[in-house]
Amino acid sequence: MKRKPTVGKRERFITYARDRFQCVFCRRSVLLGQLSLFDLTVDHWWPLCQGGHPYRLRNLRTACRACNTLKGDATFDTLDDAREYIEQQRAVAAARMIEQAAYEVGDTLHAFDWLDLEAVLWRLGVAS
Ligand SMILES: [Zn+2]
Repeated sequence: MKRKPTVGKRERFITYARDRFQCVFCRRSVLLGQLSLFDLTVDHWWPLCQGGHPYRLRNLRTACRACNTLKGDATFDTLDDAREYIEQQRAVAAARMIEQAAYEVGDTLHAFDWLDLEAVLWRLGVAS
């Protein structure tokens, strides 16, 4: 069986270095201490499921995990379009999460651990 080609260590490093270890979408940076190296992922600008090239550098972008997840399989004409879409998705996800938290907390608000919410929002890229 033919093995599915994927992003290798070399492509991953070149992509991160080219993008200065910064998420191209939210612009948070490892070098500025806003992200850890482990938060970085390689995004396929044109998604694999739509025939995007799996490891050609031109199709690879440095993205934090949060932005990569929010971008999903959507496609865009420009980086600004992608940024706008991701920000909208982030706002929707944050609102949904806050709604869920409020529902779960109910009238025991005093017992709610705000640190948890902060951690969740940070993972989503809402807080820094
Ligand atoms: Zn990001």
